[in-house]
Amino acid sequence: MLLLRSPGHLPHRQGVDRAVSRGLPAGRRCQWQAVGSSPMGTETESGTDTGGATGTETGGATGTGSGPAAGPGTGAGTGTGAVTVPPRPPTSLSPSRAADFMRCPLLYRLRVIDRLPEKPSEAAAKGTVVHAVLERLFDAPAAERTPARATGMVEAEWERLLAARPELGALFQAAEPGALATWLDSARSLVERWFALEDPTRLEPAEREMYVETVLESGLTLRGYVDRLDVAPATGDLRVVDYKTGKAPRPEYADEPLFQMKFYALVLWRLRGIVPRRLQLVYLGSGDVLTYDPTPGDLLNTERKLLALWRAISEATATGDWRPRRTPLCGWCDHQALCPEFGGTPPPYPLVRMAEAAEAVGQNGAV
Ligand code: SF4
Repeated sequence: MLLLRSPGHLPHRQGVDRAVSRGLPAGRRCQWQAVGSSPMGTETESGTDTGGATGTETGGATGTGSGPAAGPGTGAGTGTGAVTVPPRPPTSLSPSRAADFMRCPLLYRLRVIDRLPEKPSEAAAKGTVVHAVLERLFDAPAAERTPARATGMVEAEWERLLAARPELGALFQAAEPGALATWLDSARSLVERWFALEDPTRLEPAEREMYVETVLESGLTLRGYVDRLDVAPATGDLRVVDYKTGKAPRPEYADEPLFQMKFYALVLWRLRGIVPRRLQLVYLGSGDVLTYDPTPGDLLNTERKLLALWRAISEATATGDWRPRRTPLCGWCDHQALCPEFGGTPPPYPLVRMAEAAEAVGQNGAV
């Protein structure tokens, strides 16, 4: 059951959710409360359908992150133009990298195996800053989680990010005067819009920026970061929440973000033994909330799809056959110069060379 609500045009609500949904009985009410002994809050959702998804999220610049094991491309990249870590075969799958392979196998190879750096991106950096604000705002007492406090955190989070990744300073060094101020304002707008979609004074997340990892029976390791996990104490129901700084996709393009959410739901099911009750994507760029209530059958299908994906990745890893797949998203790809679709030549496949080297070592009698 897919639901989309678009309250972004409403003034900031305090304690009132005007939700629209697709296919959900009107007036349905869900309560999500605190965990343990924390102060509890409730959120009410009710539904009538208005549709209204607008556009697509721009190329991977949401800053949701996929963990240190996911390779480059999870954020703004290093921008150094040099390979900073040795090539390696993939050992696990994250939602971002699974999406990369489905989008373009060559892109997956260049990010995960070659580990080529990518240029810093204003959009990715903004996503990181906005996610940090939404995460850390919950450190404050519930009554103090106001738009003013949240927007006031944006510049400090940018400074914190810059201290950790000084190369991001290059984003604004050659820019027009005032570009950084404009960029910070746009980050504040995204943060402010969140208050029209959710009410943090009435939420006590169980987890924020939670690293999850599980090994399936097949041996495949799944890993990633969940932006927020809410638990209903009365029922133990789980709600998995992901923030997107882009716009909600049109319904025909909703499969990819939902696949990411089902990936997290599968991991949580394996880790906690219960199927999450609700998956919720919060699109700050357009002011939409997309929700989906998964079933065990959905997640078993997701597991089958991931295993098939992993088989395809393993085969490409062994053969070195990573084919480019041209799509409109190529416009956001940092590797066009190396891509045959754009007249380029990929670097020699490093794992083949490694295998040959290992064979040569074996022939020389080394262990
Ligand atoms: S530019 Fe080439 S490598 Fe990049 S996504 Fe497009 S087809 Fe794949």
